Amino acid sequence: MNHRGLLVVVSGFSGVGKGTLVKKLVTECDNYALSVSMTTRKPREGEIDGVSYFFVDHDTFEQTIAQDGLVEYASYVGNYYGTPKAWVEEQRNSGKDVVLEIEVQGALKVKEKFPDAVLIFVLPPSAKELKRRLEGRGTETQDVVLKRLSRAEEESAFVEQYDYIVVNDDLGACMEAVNGIVRAEHQRPNLN
Ligand code: 5GP
Repeated sequence: MNHRGLLVVVSGFSGVGKGTLVKKLVTECDNYALSVSMTTRKPREGEIDGVSYFFVDHDTFEQTIAQDGLVEYASYVGNYYGTPKAWVEEQRNSGKDVVLEIEVQGALKVKEKFPDAVLIFVLPPSAKELKRRLEGRGTETQDVVLKRLSRAEEESAFVEQYDYIVVNDDLGACMEAVNGIVRAEHQRPNLN
């Protein structure tokens, strides 16, 4: 018999490498399923609709909110981002640990709705390294880079509300840390 999977929420400042981390988790460990979010942001080069995100327009996003189709949603640097509900439930019921790679407002909403969700915040080794990674990625204009860095400063006020903090210095070690947390969370007695 399958146990219901956990909700594993991974957040971190833009450029910290959380996207790479969650991709590595789902490709290397078969207990995870990665939720694909819906967004009104325009696709970056190489991003695929339905894989990276479901890219939708503003009206479609608001219709989905009205139909109660999202677990949570938030606005981030001028765009909506949200987690489609039905798929997450399906995966958890089949025993998969569902990874949500989302920003802090959404993460805290998830914790309110699902107190047993595991909230993990990924920190960079240093602020300087974060700026270097974000600029080095070359996916955003300088204006958006600055907005994302300023958003990172706002987000740092919420880090202490997370259940766990991991530092992304070495990707493999970071993945092991997340796996250790998830394994331990599976051993908790059922509090319901
Ligand atoms: P990006 O534009 O870099 O792909 O994502 C911007 C931010 O939105 C990141 O912090 C990412 O974790 C967050 N994000 C992605 N999907 C969702 C979602 O479904 N809900 C929320 N609340 N944040 C999301």
